[in-house]
Amino acid sequence: MHIVKTIKNLRQILHQVRRKGQKIGFVPTMGYFHEGHLSLMRQAKKECDICVVSVYVNPKQFGPKEDLGRYPRDIKRDTMMIKKENVDILFIPSDNVVYPNCYLTYIDVEKISNTLCGQYRPGHFKGVATVVAKLLNMVQPDVLYLGQKDAQQVVVLKTMAADLNFPVGIRVVPTAREKDGLAMSSRNIRLSSQERAQAPVLYKALKDAARHIKAGEGSVSKIIGRIQKTITQYSSGKIQYVACVDADTLEPLKILKGNILIALAVFFGKTRLIDNVIIPIKKSNKVQN
Ligand code: AMP
Repeated sequence: MHIVKTIKNLRQILHQVRRKGQKIGFVPTMGYFHEGHLSLMRQAKKECDICVVSVYVNPKQFGPKEDLGRYPRDIKRDTMMIKKENVDILFIPSDNVVYPNCYLTYIDVEKISNTLCGQYRPGHFKGVATVVAKLLNMVQPDVLYLGQKDAQQVVVLKTMAADLNFPVGIRVVPTAREKDGLAMSSRNIRLSSQERAQAPVLYKALKDAARHIKAGEGSVSKIIGRIQKTITQYSSGKIQYVACVDADTLEPLKILKGNILIALAVFFGKTRLIDNVIIPIKKSNKVQN
C-alpha cells in the first residue's frame, strides 16, 4: 500500500494507474475506521482496479463549538486495518496541503445544505462540499464511494457533482450497524456505557416507524411523534431533530409517497449521533394531518 502525503506524489502514482487504463475508486474519510468505512473500501475493491482512501479531519466542516479537537484519531491503527483490506493508496494530507495560506474558495450547495443537520451545523456542508471537491480534483477517481449513514451528505455531494460536472460516478453503500442496530460511527467510542446501552433505540424507533408507514400510516406528524416518544421513553437522548423528507430533494413531506427519508440527530451527553432509514412507498398513503 502506498502511503502518500503530498498531491504531487499522489498524482505521480495515479498517472501510472490511469495510463494502464485502470479504474479508480475513492473513499474519502476522517479516519478512526470501523466496519462502515471498510464496507465502502470493500465495495470499491470489488468494482474498481485501484482503491484510494483519504484520511483527513477537515477543520472547515466543524463549527467553533463542535468536536474538532476531540475527534478520534489513530492513523497507525487505521493504516494496519486497511492494509488488510488491500487498499492500494492511503492519502493523508496535512492542513497545509489541503488549505495552503490565503485559501479563499468555497463551494456552497444552496438550500439542501441548510435543512436537517445543516440547520444546526451552519457551514458544515459548505466545508464538506469544499473538501470533497478538492479531493475529487486531487484523486480524479472514476467512482466516489459514500455511506448512506450520512444521507444529507450524499444528496449534497450528488448535487455538487452534477451541478459542477464532476466526471465521477457515485456509489452509495448501506449503513453498517452493530449487532444491536446502532449505526457504526467513529464517535461511538465517546459514549459512556450507559449511553452506549441506550443508543440502539434510535434504529429501533426508525424501524418501528418504517413498519407503520408500510402498514399504511399516512400522518407525518404521527410518525415523527412516535419516534420522538420511543427515544425519550427508552433513553436519556436529547433529540435535536426528527424529520420526514423526500430522499432525493430533502423537501419536507406532506404526503407519505416516493422515497421517504426519515432522518434524526440525537445527543447522548456531548456525543451527537445521526441515523436514518429510506422507505420506498409507491402509492401515497392516506394523509391524516
Ligand atoms: P467519516 O469518516 O465519518 O467522514 O465517514 C467517511 C465515509 O464513511 C462517509 O461516506 C460516511 O458516510 C461513511 N460511513 C460512516 N459510517 C458509516 C456506516 N456506519 N456505514 C456505512 N458508511 C459509513
